[in-house]
Amino acid sequence: MIPVSRPYLPSRERLDHYLDKIYQSSQLTNHGPLHEELTLRLAQYLEVSPENLILVANGTLALQLAIKSLDLTGEVITSPFSFVASTSAAVWEGLRPRFCDIDAEDLNMATQKIPPLITSSTSALIPVHVFGNICETSDIQKLAKQNKLKVIYDASHCFGVRHQGKSALEYGDISTISFHATKLFHTVEGGAIYTKDTKLADKIRNMSKFGIDKHAAIVDLGINAKMSEVHAAMGLAVLDELDVIQSARATLWNRYAENVSHTILCQTKRDTDSQNHAYFPVMLKNETILLSVQRRLKASGVEARRYFYPSLETLPYLQSHLSCPNAHDIASRVLCLPLFPGLNEAEQLKIIQIVNDTLEQV
Ligand SMILES: *Cc1c(COP(=O)(O)O)cnc(C)c1O
Repeated sequence: MIPVSRPYLPSRERLDHYLDKIYQSSQLTNHGPLHEELTLRLAQYLEVSPENLILVANGTLALQLAIKSLDLTGEVITSPFSFVASTSAAVWEGLRPRFCDIDAEDLNMATQKIPPLITSSTSALIPVHVFGNICETSDIQKLAKQNKLKVIYDASHCFGVRHQGKSALEYGDISTISFHATKLFHTVEGGAIYTKDTKLADKIRNMSKFGIDKHAAIVDLGINAKMSEVHAAMGLAVLDELDVIQSARATLWNRYAENVSHTILCQTKRDTDSQNHAYFPVMLKNETILLSVQRRLKASGVEARRYFYPSLETLPYLQSHLSCPNAHDIASRVLCLPLFPGLNEAEQLKIIQIVNDTLEQV
C-alpha cells in the first residue's frame, strides 16, 4: 500500500550519532544539550530568535500553551477547515469556538467574514495557515487591533515558509507549529511555539516545564510539555537531511502540478510567499467523484486522504449553529494525494494516471 504520507526516517548512522551523545551525557530530558542544539539550529533555519522559540512535546500542547499564556476566555474565532486539533485545543482550554467560513481560493478564514462573528465575549482569533498557504495577515492584524483581540496562528503546516520576506512564524501574537511524524520536519512527536515578545516567550517556556523558571523558582502555573532528548535527537538527524527532503518534495509536487488534470488543482500560490510542498490537495467537482477517485486509488494500493474532513463546525461535541457553506462544500471534495520523500516516479505516475482516468470516466 502506498500511504498518503510516510514518516521520514533519517540515516541510521546519523541518528546513532545523536543517540550516542545521549549515552554520553546521560541526560534524557529537561532541556538537555540536544534540546538546546535543536532549538538553536531550528531558530537559525527558520530565521527567528532562539530565545523566542520554545520546543514542546507536540503541536496540540503548543496551541494549549499559547492559549493559556494569553489568558484567553470566552469565544475564539477559528477556521472550520483544519485538522481537529486547532479547535479541540481551544475547547480543551475552556473556550467556545466560533467558526469563520473559508475563502474558496486560499482555503483560509475569509477575513471579511470575521467582523460579524465578533462579540463582547471574543478574546482571540485562531486562524490556520492551511496546507502552508499563509492567511491574509494584514487584514487579520487590523481586525485584531481594532477589536483588541489576540491572534494565535496555527502554523503547523508552515515549516520553512516565508511570508512577505519573513518567517511565517513572525505574524500574530503567537504562532504554533507541529513536528509530528507525518509533517515535513519531525521529531517523532513534537512542536514549537514562537512569539516576538521575549517576556511572553519566557513565560511560555516556564509554563511548559511546570511553571519553573531558570532559577528553579515556581513562578507560574505550568504543565509538562517538554521535548525529550530522544525526540530532539530525531529532530537533529532529520534536520541534517532537510535538503534531501525538500528537493524530493519539490520534485514530486511539481510533477503532480504538471500532470494532474488542471481541472482539479486547488492551491493558489501567492508571489510574496515561499512554498514548502508539504501537501498536494486536489479539489474534485463533488463528493461522489471524490469517493470514486479514492476508491479507484485504493483498489490499486494507493491511500489518498480526506484532509480535512469533516468541516469542524459539524463536530458532534460542539453544537455549533453557524453554517460555513464554503468549508462544508470544500471539505466534502478535497483529497490529498500521496507526497513524501521515497515515493518513486513510477508510483507517482501510476497515481496521476488513475486520477486522470477516473476524471475522464465520471
Ligand atoms: C498536525 C496538526 C496539529 C497537531 O499537531 P500534533 O503535533 O499532532 O499535536 C494541529 N493543527 C494542525 C493544523 C495540524 O495539521
